[in-house]
Amino acid sequence: MENGAAPTAQPVIVAIDGPSGTGKSSTSKAVAAQLGLSYLDTGAQYRAITWWMVTNGIDLTDPTAIAAVAGKPEIVSGTDPLAPTITVDGYDVAGPIRTQEVTSKVSAVSAVPEVRTRITELQRSIAAGAEGGIVVEGRDIGTTVLPDADLKIFLTASPEARAARRSGEVKGSDVAATREALIQRDAADSSRKTSPLAKAGDAVEVDTTELTLAQVIECVVTLVEEKRAGK
Ligand code: C5P
Repeated sequence: MENGAAPTAQPVIVAIDGPSGTGKSSTSKAVAAQLGLSYLDTGAQYRAITWWMVTNGIDLTDPTAIAAVAGKPEIVSGTDPLAPTITVDGYDVAGPIRTQEVTSKVSAVSAVPEVRTRITELQRSIAAGAEGGIVVEGRDIGTTVLPDADLKIFLTASPEARAARRSGEVKGSDVAATREALIQRDAADSSRKTSPLAKAGDAVEVDTTELTLAQVIECVVTLVEEKRAGK
């Protein structure tokens, strides 16, 4: 319980970054819902543009081909943390963006600078329009997209914990294969030239390996409330 630190209506922008399987999405949605903030899943946007490219037969081994069409699909994100949505050209892609095919190809698409410029602009305009404040989760939110965010969190966890969490989410997947795929995707996301996965210098790092989801949520809610109270 906070003492005399009831949240004010002051908008707050929270950036939550980190690799896959650290609990970013579950934490971000719950924190946003609990504090009455909007929520943006930026990974879903990169997945959505990747889905569009796969569906339209774009050669994903050719960054020039990806760059040439980066501006074509219209991506719309719904920011209610209790019911986030994502559409491409009006088509609901919440399911299709989670397939193995999209997951294995998204890092190649998200590494292309023209894709990042396009999606970053979209993310900034959504954050600017979120009147009551927003929790934005991704890989480069604190470093590049919203460097002036009020609070930056960087979630980490051991590769074993991350793989176990992810394979628990995907029916029929085995932990060893999931671990390999995660390591490869993180390596690609961390080593790309444009806006890699990285912890901002002023981010608070939270290692979630030994924490339950409820504990991570509580930790982040406390950090936001302290920020709002000016501590
Ligand atoms: O968070 P999620 O696993 O859905 O992200 C999918 C992919 O989108 C990441 O592996 C990464 O390639 C890309 N991504 C990114 N920058 C972000 C969020 C996601 O490059 N801010």
